[in-house]
Amino acid sequence: MSPPTTPPCASSTPASAVADVGVCLVYPDLLGTYGDGGNARILAQRLRWRGIGAEVVTVRLGDRLPATCELYVLGGGEDRPQALAAAELRRDGALSRAAEGGAAVLAVCAGVQVVGRRFLTADGIVDGAGLVDLDTVRGLPARAVGELAVDPDPGLGLPRLSGYENHAGATTLGPGVQPLGTVVRGVGNGTGHGDGFVAGRMLGTYLHGPVLARNLEVADLLLSWVVGTLPPLEQPAADAEARGLRAERLAAAVGGGARAWWRRYQRGT
Ligand code: GLN
Repeated sequence: MSPPTTPPCASSTPASAVADVGVCLVYPDLLGTYGDGGNARILAQRLRWRGIGAEVVTVRLGDRLPATCELYVLGGGEDRPQALAAAELRRDGALSRAAEGGAAVLAVCAGVQVVGRRFLTADGIVDGAGLVDLDTVRGLPARAVGELAVDPDPGLGLPRLSGYENHAGATTLGPGVQPLGTVVRGVGNGTGHGDGFVAGRMLGTYLHGPVLARNLEVADLLLSWVVGTLPPLEQPAADAEARGLRAERLAAAVGGGARAWWRRYQRGT
């Protein structure tokens, strides 16, 4: 393997002295299903549309992970690549250091499982990066595939969220970890009625879409955690289009067939 390369925001300059907000896209070559890397682009663009400089730092397997970015984004993946990602994150330690230092983390699907304590794959139990007290096993009646709609915890001030899911893992949150919200349609964590988690400045969800393209308010929540009160957008028209798409998808997902879908899913048919 070639020696690790150091991406720009891995310099020894403290984050506070760097003009641009660093959005680190973590191992998109391992955790990059369903265009989840788009979440990093959306975070950066929504900062730029507010006149705030932002840079996406893409870190692939073999690159050194910077501990100095303000935001970290982990996407979905298949079992073996996600096991490799977890091993790298544990060995490297930079993501844990960044999170302990106050960076925000968005973890989607395999990303949720990877930041947890351990997860079960077809090859056996794998240790996660251990950032969040959660465990994932194979406990679903059938693979969870399809629309996912979530009512977020009211304290988060977010509207109903839309996306889709495709996973075999069922995630149990530790006692101090709250779900992102309640599943209205679909499976989510698959243990109880919750989807994802919120722990400090870390937010996880089984929503693909990419989740931030469908749910811009989640992007702004993450951004507010690292830059504080957000100035108004210079491109508000783009938001109206995204909200229209979400309304359309939610109407399709939560409409009349949702209960029948749930009964079929539980029967495994
Ligand atoms: N491999 C994991 C599972 O099947 C995550 C899948 C995903 O990220 N879409 O549970």
